[in-house]
Amino acid sequence: MGYSKTIAPPKRRGDGVVGVDIGEIHPIVSHDGQHTEIYNGRYIRSLYRHRNKVLAEFHQMLSRCKRHSKRWWRLTRRKWKRMKKIDAQIKDALNKHTTNFVKSTAERNIGTIVLGDLTGIRININYSKRSNQKLHQWAFSKITSLITYKAKELGIKVEQIDEAYTSQTCPKCGNRKKSNNRNYTCKCGFKYHRDGVGAINIRRKYLGHFGVPVVADMDNQAMKMTPPLGFRLKVPVASS
Ligand SMILES: [Zn+2]
Repeated sequence: MGYSKTIAPPKRRGDGVVGVDIGEIHPIVSHDGQHTEIYNGRYIRSLYRHRNKVLAEFHQMLSRCKRHSKRWWRLTRRKWKRMKKIDAQIKDALNKHTTNFVKSTAERNIGTIVLGDLTGIRININYSKRSNQKLHQWAFSKITSLITYKAKELGIKVEQIDEAYTSQTCPKCGNRKKSNNRNYTCKCGFKYHRDGVGAINIRRKYLGHFGVPVVADMDNQAMKMTPPLGFRLKVPVASS
């Protein structure tokens, strides 16, 4: 007799595709073809700022004492402890956001999550911003792995694509333009929340429609773009 025990395969999900832009301002911005969801990053950003401030304070104190001295070690151990605590708070917030996002995806008949990949992150040479850049890169890969892991458990496929130009390209006409404020406005008349544009385009890129002008009267349903129905702002998670 062979094994009769069967492992239940993950429940098969639907045909829906959601594009995700992992940003510096907001940790997760997603678009499913109709709705854009923006997970507010204010709380996480305040933790980043706090982390940088505490780190700078310790570095200043450490610079004033002899390396490997008693006081130096005491300060170093205190620094590690503080960092560990703040990092745990950041991880906790990212955990909550990704859990909420993957759950809401599963509820919407979505079978595929498309993420931009790390190549899209610019390396900022501005020295003062370097520690922030490192944090954002760390958060980017953390969010990517958390979403991938949690989606897998629910039978949702995760794909990664190069996110180059996805935040600058008009989803409607394909024109390329950078947006300097909250609103993306194109000469063709397309207007939208800037952060949603990246998610719309990441989704369209996966579907093979990126930069392809949307022709309203075309028969091919796949080439049409449903006008985005607005966005939902998710309230910041508070550390419990
Ligand atoms: Zn346009």
